[in-house]
Amino acid sequence: MSIIEEPIKKVQMLKNYVNGEWIESEANVFRDVVNPATMKTIGKVPISNSGDLDEAVKAAREAFPEWRRTTPLTRARYFLRLKELLEENFEEVSRVGVMEHGKTIDESRGETRRGIENVECAAGIPSLMMGYNLEDIARGIDEYLIRQPLGVFACIAPFNFPFMVPLWYMPYAVATGNTYVVKPSPWTPFSQHKLFELIDEAGFPPGVINMVHGDVEVANAIIEHPDVKGVSFVGSTPVGRDIIYKGATAHGKRVQAQCGAKNFLVVMPDASVDRTIPSLMTSFYGNTGQRCLSGANLVIVGEDDAFYNRFLKKTVEAAANIRIGYGLDESVQMGPLQAEVRKTRVLGYIEKGVEEGAKLLLDGRSFKIVGNYPDNCFLGPSIFQDVTEDMVIAKEEIFGPVMNVIRTKNLDDAIKLINNSAYGNEAAIFTDSGRAARKFQYEVTCGNIGINIGVAAPMAFFPFSGMKDSFFGDLHGQGRDAVNFFTEQKVVIVRWF
Ligand code: NAD
Repeated sequence: MSIIEEPIKKVQMLKNYVNGEWIESEANVFRDVVNPATMKTIGKVPISNSGDLDEAVKAAREAFPEWRRTTPLTRARYFLRLKELLEENFEEVSRVGVMEHGKTIDESRGETRRGIENVECAAGIPSLMMGYNLEDIARGIDEYLIRQPLGVFACIAPFNFPFMVPLWYMPYAVATGNTYVVKPSPWTPFSQHKLFELIDEAGFPPGVINMVHGDVEVANAIIEHPDVKGVSFVGSTPVGRDIIYKGATAHGKRVQAQCGAKNFLVVMPDASVDRTIPSLMTSFYGNTGQRCLSGANLVIVGEDDAFYNRFLKKTVEAAANIRIGYGLDESVQMGPLQAEVRKTRVLGYIEKGVEEGAKLLLDGRSFKIVGNYPDNCFLGPSIFQDVTEDMVIAKEEIFGPVMNVIRTKNLDDAIKLINNSAYGNEAAIFTDSGRAARKFQYEVTCGNIGINIGVAAPMAFFPFSGMKDSFFGDLHGQGRDAVNFFTEQKVVIVRWF
């Protein structure tokens, strides 16, 4: 076991960041932030109120006119500076992420890298934000399109990728000339705290980027605030669809709500067993199953019993060998769930699966932890066999390390299963056949498709897609979609006499 160096050494009282200052929340209510591997309290996060949000929006609104007039190249340079600081603090940011969330250090490094890539991408705003033009739309008349920022935008973030998710939005919003308010998840507020320390050091003008910690009250204040032009939400479907999307659109705002998932990974009989299984392990058990791109249902296609049995046997062996422990230990492959309530929820689904008649091939309720840590949030990988489409465990998002194995006769049946699902975040196929892969990509109603890839996470310069109950809105986070979401398009027609 390697030596564990924890970056958070004593309980820290977190503050909001408004108008370039660290300030205390007016509400003066705090919640403990607990490291799920050690169960030690590492901080206290303010649960702010609507007055706190109002202060942040006011600062952002007042900063907007001057920031909007700052040239795109100058705005981009702030992000280049932030990128340098993030690289210098890469390891610390990643280690903080492990402490608040429980993921492994490698998973956390991956998250930090993905976040930084969005900062890099947004630094290309002078090119990304360009409009277009056409000379002589009529004799002597020209026409062009320009993009303009709208004002104040805000993000409501989930617990599972606390550092990266706000970076799917904020850099694009701010680089295009808007000003911003981030509301992190109260479960995992530390990596945004760290990011804001670096934002402060990068020297962004006061009020351009603000952060208000909190929960439901701040989220509701964001969707109702008359000065907030648009909201980017990432989180569960009931909150995203019924509260954020409905509420914010009713208040006339732009909304992009990236929500829950139930992802199917399809294995064709011609798939390479040895190359596919490591991808499945990362997809189903990476981040302890707490990813919107996590595998949930594994569909094994074909009537070849020998292939099915061999594939399943090797999958169970691989899952049973995953090393579980504190993510700061470099040798660990899977950390705890983020909180005790999340473990209780997953345990409920395991019991439900047994009750529904699925066969529990690998029972994650018995497991071994590397090192001496309390087991409150830990759980091993589970595998259910003989799962059918109508079972609750096959339909609902479990958000934990549970694999459901479903068998179908052919690819058409597998695609039907996927397209019948309420969700449409990710689907993946493992095959050697280009024909099968193309059919899959063509017919499947999911936003992110993997072909021999188990976690199809789009890079910063592509939209992070999603369909059906996994996404509400039309423009997604990242890349060009984000630039469109955060800008108004104005068309100018010109004639000079
Ligand atoms: P959540 O819905 O519980 O919380 C998300 C945010 O909404 C938090 O900031 C929270 O404070 C706020 N919130 C919670 N309840 C609210 C309410 N009643 N009214 C207003 N605001 C409220 O989600 P979570 O548990 O933090 O995140 C996990 C979920 O996020 C999973 O469903 C996962 O699939 C999804 N997710 C989706 C994507 C994607 O790109 N589609 C990415 C990451 C996570």
